Amino acid sequence: MPRKCVIILLDGIGDRSYEQFNYQTPLQAAKTPVLDGLAAGGANGSYHAAFLGQALPSEHAHFLMFGYDMSGFPGRGALEALGAGIKLSPKDVAVLSHFACLRESDGCFVVGQRKPEISDNEISGLIQAVDKYDSRGVNLRFIQTGGIFGIILLTGDVSPYITDSDPFIDGRPLIAISSWEDFSDDIASQNVALALKEYLVWTYDQLNDCPVNRSRIGKGQAAVNGFVTQRAGQLKDVIPFNQSWGLHGLSIASGLVYTGLSVYIGMDTKKVADTEDPEKDIADRLNTAYESLNDYDFVHVHTKAPDEAAHTKDPDAKKSVIESLDRGIGRAIGPLMDDPEVLIIITADHSTPSSGALIHSGESVPLTFYGEGIRRDRVSRFNEVDVATGALGSVRGKELMYLILNHLDRAKLQGVMDTPVDQPYWPGDYEPFRLK
Ligand SMILES: [Zn+2]
Repeated sequence: MPRKCVIILLDGIGDRSYEQFNYQTPLQAAKTPVLDGLAAGGANGSYHAAFLGQALPSEHAHFLMFGYDMSGFPGRGALEALGAGIKLSPKDVAVLSHFACLRESDGCFVVGQRKPEISDNEISGLIQAVDKYDSRGVNLRFIQTGGIFGIILLTGDVSPYITDSDPFIDGRPLIAISSWEDFSDDIASQNVALALKEYLVWTYDQLNDCPVNRSRIGKGQAAVNGFVTQRAGQLKDVIPFNQSWGLHGLSIASGLVYTGLSVYIGMDTKKVADTEDPEKDIADRLNTAYESLNDYDFVHVHTKAPDEAAHTKDPDAKKSVIESLDRGIGRAIGPLMDDPEVLIIITADHSTPSSGALIHSGESVPLTFYGEGIRRDRVSRFNEVDVATGALGSVRGKELMYLILNHLDRAKLQGVMDTPVDQPYWPGDYEPFRLK
């Protein structure tokens, strides 16, 4: 029976149907013999990490998939700060931010280019001009995490319960920064909203007048003269993953937010880099996963490639990436499939539509369990539609973790209390009965 699991997370693989694919999704239209083989030898179903129809960002979906409740979620800003190795005290607030081209219109800021092209040298010059600011007892620092992206770290009497300024779409006005409705009487939230607003206005003035932008304007390029901000966060107390689920976890992923989430829940991380070759990337990660199984019993193997392809809003690009990933999985999955102690899970965190205005969408994603003892159903294709007739049915939220414990023969018989905490796994780390 399986004792360990490898969860292959194909980020954003779920999609919608397109006429160009004869009304199939990119995953249905793609040639995926390896994924289809796993589906044919396993149990299949549809998965959503929360409520069907909810469009989840990766960080929420992963947090829920790893068996947590959103009440313990610290905000993406805090996760990316952890992922970037930024020292974050429990009282600090981390706000996701990046440079953008702004213009003034009717007393508002409007986004000209949300993600401008700019050289590393130019970015360094901009950061030097605006990396520190103090207002209303709040210290604000911009810390670069890569390219135009960074964290605005707020220290002092601060609160994370503020709205975003980033409208996500070029041509739209920036959003007013205010406290959340439930925190409208919270002085720290109001103070942070005002301090951040002042910082963004000051930043705009400083950047418009800095040498980098004078040079850009001279060359006919747009000034990169402001920040957009979103998803403020602050650390919370959270029960570590191995204590919550009795599994020693490793995450193999490239993005800051996944590293940060793993750090937050006490899961070990292996940070990898994305190349131009998703086939090789996923094969390398699966080889690393196989080698790690002596030390871990839950290995998360992540690829962002399908999500990124979908964000180009080109269904063909997504289909092509999916076919590359299938070839890459085929190169490395053999030893994992042959090992009777390994349970393989293939799924995604959310759907990412290759057309339309949505960033992510709320449809379910496919879920396959492959390993010894798994009920075999009649599904023979790994895609959003075929899996829906499978033996796993419709799986939601932390049911995924319960199913994993179940198939690893680690599910506790409900009602058994071998430890003072009613943990879902068995056996618990209990105290031996001592005679004295
Ligand atoms: Zn995602």
